[in-house]
Amino acid sequence: MSLRPIHLLGSPVLRQHSVEVTAVDDEVRRLIDDMFETMDAAKGVGLAANQVGVARRVAVVDAEEDRFVMVNPRIIEAEGRAVAEEGCLSIPEIYADVSRPDRVVVEAMDANGTLYRKEATGLKARAIQHEIDHLDGILFLDHLSLIKRQMLMAKWRREHRDDVGYTKEVSGASARSE
Ligand code: ZN
Repeated sequence: MSLRPIHLLGSPVLRQHSVEVTAVDDEVRRLIDDMFETMDAAKGVGLAANQVGVARRVAVVDAEEDRFVMVNPRIIEAEGRAVAEEGCLSIPEIYADVSRPDRVVVEAMDANGTLYRKEATGLKARAIQHEIDHLDGILFLDHLSLIKRQMLMAKWRREHRDDVGYTKEVSGASARSE
């Protein structure tokens, strides 16, 4: 297993629509192992493959004492509405309230390629939706009003004007976010 650098806002891969995994083989399992390790080191509650530069439909979640991988996930039920603060490992130190369905049922494959369904509410439901958004090239900022988004983007640009690349090595010192 190895830690992989995390792509930050501005990296084109974060805006890519990730492709379906056709077979959960050893290469995909290696990716999953690395993603769990990287998410843990970065103290995240979720991580999508394109956040480590791989545009394939794989995401890991660790929320409410449930730790799982989703390969080719899709939401098959969604209901209710809740607002809560979100952050993102690809947009460090930027947080905002996001409104999402409060309960979802997701269908995905696990690391053995076995199809499963999972029902989730609260933080877990939020993390699942946040990660699936990533696979579609969507960031939590996209759920905000135009004004709020522009304000946060301006803050981001101010704080990152000296960045030389679009990735950062995981240090394990960041706050817990998705
Ligand atoms: Zn994220």
